[in-house]
Amino acid sequence: MPHSHAYFQGNIVPLEQAKIGVMTHAFNYGTAVFEGIRGNWNEDDQTTYLFRVREHMERLAQSSKIMMLELHESIDKLCELALEITERSGFSEDVYLRPMVYLSSEQLGVRLHNLESDTLMFLTPFPAYLPEVARCHTSTWRRVDDTGIPPRAKVTGIYANSALAKTEAQKNGFDEAIMLNANGHVSEGSGENIFVVRNGKLITPGPADNVLEGITAKSVMELAQKELGIECVEREIDRSELYIADEVFMTGTAAHLTPVVEVDRRAVGTGAIGPVTARLSQLFYDCIRGKNAKYKHWCTPARVRVPR
Ligand code: PMP
Repeated sequence: MPHSHAYFQGNIVPLEQAKIGVMTHAFNYGTAVFEGIRGNWNEDDQTTYLFRVREHMERLAQSSKIMMLELHESIDKLCELALEITERSGFSEDVYLRPMVYLSSEQLGVRLHNLESDTLMFLTPFPAYLPEVARCHTSTWRRVDDTGIPPRAKVTGIYANSALAKTEAQKNGFDEAIMLNANGHVSEGSGENIFVVRNGKLITPGPADNVLEGITAKSVMELAQKELGIECVEREIDRSELYIADEVFMTGTAAHLTPVVEVDRRAVGTGAIGPVTARLSQLFYDCIRGKNAKYKHWCTPARVRVPR
């Protein structure tokens, strides 16, 4: 039977054996950095394709560096572990891998130094995160700023900011929040980057707008430019520009590529999925499931070993 596994304290174990103590520093103070990596199931190939696993591990190393957390494993080792966990877990559906570098000392006292760090990684089945099309609102919560906790680092503690925004959006009847940064410009969703299509161009906030530098966003921009000849621009976006955009969509490991059809109760474009979003989606979903030979290098095949 398929069963979630985890890398914990140096070994791969069934998920229920991976437990931390209540005094663990990261649990008390949010002093951990993490990644989300998709394993996308391809029924024809009976294979799970891990999407851009090396890039995710490299970003984990960058986040660790920003937060002064010592990463004990090499990038190669982390990639091997991701593959091993996926194969040992044996799911024939979309999954999500969560590597984390965390302050593991069971000691009180807010700081980053003179504490032990450890690495863990777990896998869980994970279906689509957002509905097929999303209705969004502008959050009253501002995105954390690089001068507070740098959002370019995927720090667990930052996700309290995302959680406030996500819950506000859902309690108000929307699918997802769009957060403005401290300057009042559009930054990102609670767990997604955002794109606007205007006059045939793709526009997204740049790295200085307090966004996570998304791996899905980078992939989508590459596909737009190389395969569809669409120009991509990184620049500031105002809230009101969302209201007059031709198309809006979000990208992320969990959300994949999700069209946004409504913002603050105003239809985006016609209120239906736009042509650029539709073409990009088609390309993107083929690429992440290992169905596009040209972009197969983005996908690491994991062959499930558990008999079903
Ligand atoms: N922004 C935030 C806040 C996120 O949590 C995520 C998901 N990791 C993204 C953007 C999208 O990044 P990626 O495409 O690398 O998953």
